[in-house]
Amino acid sequence: MKSGDIPGLATPLLMGHENAGWVEALGLGVESLAPGDPVAVFGGWGCGRCRFCLGGQEQLCDTTRWGGLGPAGGYAEYLLVPSFRHLLPIGDLDPAVAAPFTDAALTPYSAVKKVLPKLVPGTTAVLIGAGGLGQYAVQMLRLLTEATVVVVDTSADKRASAQALGADHVIDPADDQALSDISDIKDIAGGEGAAAVFDMVGVDATLALGASALHRQGTLMLVGLAGGSYPFSFFSLPTEATLTSSNWGSRNELDEVLALAGSGRLVCTIERQPLEDINEVFARLAAGQVQGRAVFVP
Ligand SMILES: [Zn+2]
Repeated sequence: MKSGDIPGLATPLLMGHENAGWVEALGLGVESLAPGDPVAVFGGWGCGRCRFCLGGQEQLCDTTRWGGLGPAGGYAEYLLVPSFRHLLPIGDLDPAVAAPFTDAALTPYSAVKKVLPKLVPGTTAVLIGAGGLGQYAVQMLRLLTEATVVVVDTSADKRASAQALGADHVIDPADDQALSDISDIKDIAGGEGAAAVFDMVGVDATLALGASALHRQGTLMLVGLAGGSYPFSFFSLPTEATLTSSNWGSRNELDEVLALAGSGRLVCTIERQPLEDINEVFARLAAGQVQGRAVFVP
């Protein structure tokens, strides 16, 4: 985002799209909140009037006026939110812990929820990429399904933390082993392959790996924004397999994530940093030196 590499989004003057904090002041006519209330900010701000917004899928509105991804975001002392409907009370949750739930946890939650009917007990789910969002995806698969969870990541650290979060198997997809890794996945899945694959990366190689790991009627769910592609034909996928994508999550799904977090079952690794250290933290992030999420506290 900082380097302007996400298609279709204008780089805002102020970034920061995962936000939580305390209500400072309210506009006219808002009765459900009061100054001082701790809230998480749902970030998928839409027009509020189209079929998608009125159907509760505001993150799919084609206005994409997302705070921190167009309009000014939360890397600041205050954040102006256009409607109180985007503010979700967080109760006793620490806002620094709640902020990453608004995307890093919400996005994998929504992706996993979309394929829950396929992830019945005895099936296998494969997760490619166990970074910032993937760490939550492991937990969502663990908390919402009885499927066997296989995590594929090139980083030994990330494989280790995925295992600590409940992954049943971890695989290193080093290039020269890609084919044997697919056999590993199919062995783990009883020779059948995976009922669902979540690609949190989205380059050509991960999509190809994911498609090869699927079983008949399986779903390859693309979440990563790297822009890779995979040929879609009758013969490039197992019979009746589905190729689809999942984009962020809805306001009500964020409410569900906050309920999960309130039950104490969601592990959240964060480091708090003062806002004035933002450039130093971004440099560490680019070098892969941040574990979990870095949260700026103004
Ligand atoms: Zn709309």
